[in-house]
Amino acid sequence: MSEEDTNPKGQYLGRHKDLAYEPCGLPTERVRRLQYENRVLPAPPVEIKRHREIPAHMPGHMVGDIAGDCALDAHLNNSSHDFNKADIFKYSRRRMVQEQLVSRNINDKHVLRAMESIPRHLFISEALHATAYEDRPLPIANGQTISQPYVVAFMCQLLLAEPLMKVLEIGTGSGYQAAVLHEMGLKVFSVERIQNLYENTRVLLQEKFRYKNMVLHLSDGTLGWTQHALYDRIIVAAGGPSVPQALKDQLAEGGVMLIPIGDERKKQRIVRVFKINGQCKEEDCGPVSFVDLVGADGWR
Ligand code: SAH
Repeated sequence: MSEEDTNPKGQYLGRHKDLAYEPCGLPTERVRRLQYENRVLPAPPVEIKRHREIPAHMPGHMVGDIAGDCALDAHLNNSSHDFNKADIFKYSRRRMVQEQLVSRNINDKHVLRAMESIPRHLFISEALHATAYEDRPLPIANGQTISQPYVVAFMCQLLLAEPLMKVLEIGTGSGYQAAVLHEMGLKVFSVERIQNLYENTRVLLQEKFRYKNMVLHLSDGTLGWTQHALYDRIIVAAGGPSVPQALKDQLAEGGVMLIPIGDERKKQRIVRVFKINGQCKEEDCGPVSFVDLVGADGWR
């Protein structure tokens, strides 16, 4: 039996080994392995229409063989929301990762796995579910936005994080980026200033997903979160006029902070701050557009 006849677990693939797609429209084990190894998603066969990617009857374990699926399965098994409902976008997520992230040089495997596993649609209103994996930001409550998937991935990759590091996130919002950081294996401390967002996201992440390594806080994040400082990493999901002093103070030696900074509202550049020998050194990482960082040391 050649390696081509078996799946990654060594199981014999039999007569299906030459087929690219299973009757339900999903790629076969062999094709999924090739896609994963080559990080290339071949075009689906023409007869597979958009609705075919949503096989409601498919149990989750049949469509996945990469570690990201295990992460999702683990947290879904621990959660109270409907498994199949959460799972129907699995193929869309995989496409999002390949077409929007891998193709634009996102190669941090922790980031890719996290974003392939997290059901992004559960972080936005149900009316927008069909758009959840598109290449753009989307509205959430209170006039705020959930960032474009690529921007989340780019920021998380720039963070140079390793599992078990302590990360302070300013701007919990929908909780999507906090979930990505958590799935990357980080201990997440996330601060939000709007009560409604804080409360809804707390229910989603702590009661539905039952995330253990995450604490949320309602307050002005421009002042940081002194109780748990120092932090190995800080990531700010809203744009301010300058780097808040409290965040510099709460960054550990050798730490990295990412924050969008701009003289004008909605037009910033991502600044990466490295703390070396007690000094903060700044690096420009390119233009972005974020909602306002509002607070004592942000926009008023
Ligand atoms: N990371 C979020 C992005 C939400 S948009 C997500 O994945 O959905 C930015 C968020 O920053 C908004 O929720 C906004 O209310 C919040 N924000 C703005 N200024 C803040 C401040 N000073 N402290 C805490 N949160 C703030």
